[in-house]
Amino acid sequence: MPHALIGAAAAQITTTPMAAFFVGIVTHLIFDFVPHLEPSTFFKKEYGDNWPRWVYAWIFLEFILTIIFFIWLFFNKPSHDFSLIIWGALGGLSIDLIDHNPFKQRTRQWFGFKQIHLIHKFFHKDLPRNLWYFGLILLILILGGAVWLLLKF
Ligand SMILES: [Zn+2]
Repeated sequence: MPHALIGAAAAQITTTPMAAFFVGIVTHLIFDFVPHLEPSTFFKKEYGDNWPRWVYAWIFLEFILTIIFFIWLFFNKPSHDFSLIIWGALGGLSIDLIDHNPFKQRTRQWFGFKQIHLIHKFFHKDLPRNLWYFGLILLILILGGAVWLLLKF
């Protein structure tokens, strides 16, 4: 769920939910363009887009942690416009939710889904597996930056 945090952080520059959502989408594509560590780094060659089951468990864990962080933020940073955070996070998640839904093999044939898949694929750069530590450092830096931004304002 790094995308949710980045989208939420970037949404702080916006003033309306619509803009926050849009900024979330844009940061998703930008961040995908930077080769970062993600579960598929370790299995893409073997499985392609048919994710092994542990990936869904991993995503679920990330999801819970992100929710906990947002709840904590809600109670400890009342200065935030929370609707912007939520819309920014949703914008950040939207592309993956649409393009990696459990029925993606079918939905990617549909109009709209197909175009989103092509755009997503164009922007998404895979990290070479032997460079995973480089991707990890990058991920920590970017995530740290996003969390720092959310805590700062
Ligand atoms: Zn993505």
